[in-house]
Amino acid sequence: MKFPYTTFRRGQKESIERIAKRLGSTIVLKAPTGFGKTIVAILSHIKAPKVLYVVRTRNEMAPVVRELKAVNEGFTIVFSGRRMCPILRNVGIEPEDFWINCRLLREKGLCPYYERLNKVSSSSVERVLRTSGIDPHEIVANIANKLGICPFFALSRLINNSKFIVATYPYLFKEEVFRTAFSDDLSEYYVIIDEAHTLLNIQSLYEEVLSEPDVEAALRDVRTYSLGKDFIDYLIKLRDLISRIKSKMLKKVEKAYVYPGEGLIQLMEDDIIELRLKKLKEMIDARNLINISTKLTKIVKFLKYVKDENFEVYGHLDIDGSRKLRILPTSYNLVRDRLKMPKGLLLMSGTMPRKDIVDKILECDSYYIDVEEDYGRIFPHYNIFYAVYTAVTSSFRKRSIAEYIKYAELLKGVFNTVNKGVILALYPSYEFMDNVVSHIENDVTMISEGPKTSFAEVVNEVFS
Ligand code: SF4
Repeated sequence: MKFPYTTFRRGQKESIERIAKRLGSTIVLKAPTGFGKTIVAILSHIKAPKVLYVVRTRNEMAPVVRELKAVNEGFTIVFSGRRMCPILRNVGIEPEDFWINCRLLREKGLCPYYERLNKVSSSSVERVLRTSGIDPHEIVANIANKLGICPFFALSRLINNSKFIVATYPYLFKEEVFRTAFSDDLSEYYVIIDEAHTLLNIQSLYEEVLSEPDVEAALRDVRTYSLGKDFIDYLIKLRDLISRIKSKMLKKVEKAYVYPGEGLIQLMEDDIIELRLKKLKEMIDARNLINISTKLTKIVKFLKYVKDENFEVYGHLDIDGSRKLRILPTSYNLVRDRLKMPKGLLLMSGTMPRKDIVDKILECDSYYIDVEEDYGRIFPHYNIFYAVYTAVTSSFRKRSIAEYIKYAELLKGVFNTVNKGVILALYPSYEFMDNVVSHIENDVTMISEGPKTSFAEVVNEVFS
């Protein structure tokens, strides 16, 4: 075993051996933060032919990359194609429209990064992976800047020849995202899921939001490009429906009020193609960078979820007073079906629910390793202090400015009480974090890790 550190932590070696013996089944590893789950996961899968290691955010890729480098295993990384793209990353394009724009640029020979792709060998990309730091942003920037090629296609080209593929959650949970980078099937992979307690909160895996401005923007496009009248009538009805939302609490909206029927969706898709062609022509005539984005794509995507029986539609007034329609999953079927596909599963978390709950959700008989239960406490008692504060909640239904202020007061209290070390505060979402942080005064030294913050920035700030 190529363990890269001088000594194992309590239970690490045993966990590696136990997991390795049961590869091919559904395994749960519950171990506290700091146990070293990442290296355990990697070493226990060293004999597996293909491993897909998924993390929630791209910043969480860095520790996995660090351990893969430490054990000298071949790997590649993929996260959002849009965020990896040196051309369209900052163009303000709708995520739903990104791949259409990328394809147009490629087909028209307008993407220099793609044009050079076949002139650079995979071994050059592997060299950049080896010589870059562990930050995924740095890896992507080096591929674009040093090799001058498309980071997404360069890194996904390595998938077939890499044992470990480190990716963000959507590559596992959404087939349409998986297909953008992978040419083989999920059934070829042993899958490791980091922070797997997230599976209980399925709303964080699948969620779509539609606001009044989205529908207004779509209406503008439909009118500007003279698309079908049925389309306009439907969008006006949808806008009126959203404008009647009054409750801060999530309220179920009957799907019949939102879903226009398969026929109109088909028509919309045809109209969107027509609209894109018109926009494309304008851009080529004006010699502009191709950026064909329309909120119509977002609406069609939303409606496809509405059709799915695993989702329900809710309306609510957001914290800033804006009216939103939200589509949220109401059953575990999607996750369950998806997780039945891989060759084997390893679910890891420090806060993994009990075996009976995991088994019920995933309809399986998992092999459950609770490290502290089986091997004793990893960290001494005197290093742990629990403070349970029941006066706050992050429950979606109860979110309000008053609640965010309470959280901010609580954090300031902790900050003023703990006079050494670094305090790490974890939030259920970036949106939640931003709302709390906006109520903490500037005299508290703080770094907020946002969607665009790199791992290196967080580390540098913390240790500066
Ligand atoms: S080929 Fe790559 S660099 Fe070019 S537009 Fe697509 S994602 Fe961006």
